[in-house]
Amino acid sequence: MITSDLMDVNESLPTPTTDPLIDRFNRRITYLRISVIDRCNYRCLYCMPDDVEFSKQQELLTFDEIYRLIVLFAKLGIKRLRITGGEPTVRPQISELIARLSQIETIEAIVMTSNGHRLVTLAESLKNSNLCEINVSLDTVDEADFSKITNGGNLRQVIEGIDAALAQGIKIKLNTVVMPSTDAKVIGSICSFAWERGIVPRFIEQMPMSSGSLVSVGHRLMAVDIRKIIEETFDSQLVPVLMDQSNIGPARYWNLSGDAHSCFGIISAMSENFCDSCNRMRLTATGKLHTCLAFDDDADLRGAMRCGASDAMIEGMIRKNLDYKRQGHEFHSKQPQKHMISIGG
Ligand code: SAM
Ligand code: SF4
Repeated sequence: MITSDLMDVNESLPTPTTDPLIDRFNRRITYLRISVIDRCNYRCLYCMPDDVEFSKQQELLTFDEIYRLIVLFAKLGIKRLRITGGEPTVRPQISELIARLSQIETIEAIVMTSNGHRLVTLAESLKNSNLCEINVSLDTVDEADFSKITNGGNLRQVIEGIDAALAQGIKIKLNTVVMPSTDAKVIGSICSFAWERGIVPRFIEQMPMSSGSLVSVGHRLMAVDIRKIIEETFDSQLVPVLMDQSNIGPARYWNLSGDAHSCFGIISAMSENFCDSCNRMRLTATGKLHTCLAFDDDADLRGAMRCGASDAMIEGMIRKNLDYKRQGHEFHSKQPQKHMISIGG
C-alpha cells in the first residue's frame, strides 16, 4: 500500500519524467477506468454485496480533482478513459464532467459503462458531451429474470435507454455477465436482441470479487462453451475478428461466418486470461489508484492532493504504484476483498 503521507512519499518517489507509463513486464498503460461514484440504483447479484459501505459525498473526488488528475494522466500517455461506477449516470452533472474531460487535448476517446437505467433522460446530453460509446450491462432480455438479477431493475426502461442512445448516434455494446442461469436460451436471445439493433454483445466470465462471496454455486459456461452454443444456435461456423490497435481491450471477438453484422465478444478473465496485454489502471471514486483489478493494494491520490501534493509528487506516486502491477491475476487461488461495485469493473 502506498500512503499519502507526503513525508514518506516525497523521499522515495521517482523523479518526474516525460517517459510513458510502462510497467515491469513491458506493458504500456494507455487506458484509465475512472469510477465517478460507488453507489448504484441497481443491486446486481454478482456485483454488490449486502454489506457494502458507500462513500460520503465529501469523500468522492470532486470534478476539479478528477480534471486535475486526468490532465496529469494524459501527460503520462493515457489516451482513453472509461467512466464507470457504481452507476456513473447517478452522479449529478455527469455530462458536464465528460464534456470537460473531452477538452483535454491528448485524450482520444471517452467511453462509459452503465446499467442503462437513466439513458432515456441522459442520452442527448451525453451525446453533446462527446462521449463516444456506452457499454450497457444486460444479462437477460427476460423481464422477470432481469428484475431478479438486478434486484428490482426495469428491463423496459433499459431497452428504451439503449434505443435512445442509439437514436443519438452513440455507439453501444452490451455486457452480459455469465452466471449459472446463463444458458443457451439466454445467450441466443441476447445475441438476437443485440444484432437486431446493430450492437455487439460481449459475454463476461464472472470474476470472484468481494473475496469470492458473490460467486453462486452451480455450473457456469466458459468461453469455449459460449462459442459452441453460438455456433449451434445460429447454425454457423465462427470466424475470429481482428480488432485494430485502437480497439485493443480484454474482449476477443468473433462473427458468424459470412455475416459481419453478427459480431460478439467474450471477456474470458477466468478461462483464457488476457493479462499479458493489459494496458489499464483504475481510479476509484475516492481517488485510490489500482494497477490491478485482482489485488487490493492502491495509492491514495486524493489523500495526497488534499494534503497539498504537487503534480510532480502525484506523478511519482503513480509511477511507484505501477511497479506493483502484477504479471497476472491469481483469481483461482486468491480473491481480492474489494467489491466490483466499488472499483467499477
Ligand atoms: N453500473 C455500471 C454497469 O453495470 O454497467 C458500471 C459499473 S459495473 C461494476 C461495470 C461492469 O462490471 C458491468 O458490465 C458489470 O456487469 C460488470 N461486473 C460486475 N460484477 C462483475 C463480476 N463479478 N465479474 C465480471 N464482471 C462484473
Ligand atoms: Fe450496479 Fe452495475 Fe454493479 Fe449492477 S453491475 S450493481 S448496475 S454497478
